[in-house]
Amino acid sequence: MDYTQQKVIETRKLLLSSERLKTLADKSDVSKAKELRELYQYIGTLPTEQRAAFGKEVNQLRDEIVEKLDSIRELDQSLTPIDLSAPFDINLPIEQQPKLLTADHGSIHPLMRELATILDIFYRMGFTAIESRQIDDDFHMFGSLNFPVGHPARDDYDTFITKEGLIAPAHTSTMQNRVLKQYKTDLEADLPIAVVIPGRVFRNEDMDARHEHTFYQLEGIYVDKTIHAGNLIATLKTFFQAYYTKDLDIKIQPFYFPFTEPSFELVMSCPFCSKKGCSVCSQVGWIEMVGCGMIHPNVLSAANIDPTKYSGFAWGGGIDRLVMMKYNIEDIRYFEAGKLDFLRQFL
Ligand SMILES: [Zn+2]
Repeated sequence: MDYTQQKVIETRKLLLSSERLKTLADKSDVSKAKELRELYQYIGTLPTEQRAAFGKEVNQLRDEIVEKLDSIRELDQSLTPIDLSAPFDINLPIEQQPKLLTADHGSIHPLMRELATILDIFYRMGFTAIESRQIDDDFHMFGSLNFPVGHPARDDYDTFITKEGLIAPAHTSTMQNRVLKQYKTDLEADLPIAVVIPGRVFRNEDMDARHEHTFYQLEGIYVDKTIHAGNLIATLKTFFQAYYTKDLDIKIQPFYFPFTEPSFELVMSCPFCSKKGCSVCSQVGWIEMVGCGMIHPNVLSAANIDPTKYSGFAWGGGIDRLVMMKYNIEDIRYFEAGKLDFLRQFL
């Protein structure tokens, strides 16, 4: 390669670099580009017989740069900026509508598939489902649930709060007050309040295979006249036996939640080893499944339900854990990680 060819190649590289192209608007800019002018000046220094060929090469380079600028401009004009958060606009011509992946490229997430199974059991037991909110306030997170301001029990729910005081709910119990108020008319019509509340919850966790900042819970509420802890145990036993399709033993052990009195932890005989001991139940034959209890009179009063007339029970438990135990999934973080090799196992 001779020196003149080398010079053209170097100039071409300089002018076509994306940084340099950004500084050139049109043909006139390209003609005035100092790199090209240097080449044109260089023509005069060449022996006469080489000038025509070199001049032609420089002109070709100039045309190439102009063509490149034109194609970039065309591309810019054809691309309409898309606001991904905007509602889908069906009035746009088809070529301007965002190209969406069709459903056959995806599958139902294992958590949602399992949730559908869980809800189906509760529907058959007469429950209604209401999804919880993903942003809430202090009253629904604590105040309405009998957590007085400054009460140490608040520290057990370490979640996220915005400067404006909005809270990413640390449990689905944030919905209790709303549900009790919404269905209060059922009580007046001599019907029970029977609602399950699935939803996403958030905790400020040090993440590991068992702890994730985002997970799913299922809350349940049942209120009527003369409801007692026996109804609570029977309801949850019926659910777990339907879910695992086998007979199970249930125990309750005392616990503390501000919003239930008395409060319990419900323990179930291990459905995977029938109390013999296995890795799922840490060899003890029993598994702690949900927190539960009789709804505290203050919680009923906060929803204008007379606690001397009505009583009820509530429970809450993690959905992720149920799915992990059922499919022997070792790391809770897989659910939110978008790991395709994990998700494709549940197609
Ligand atoms: Zn077991």
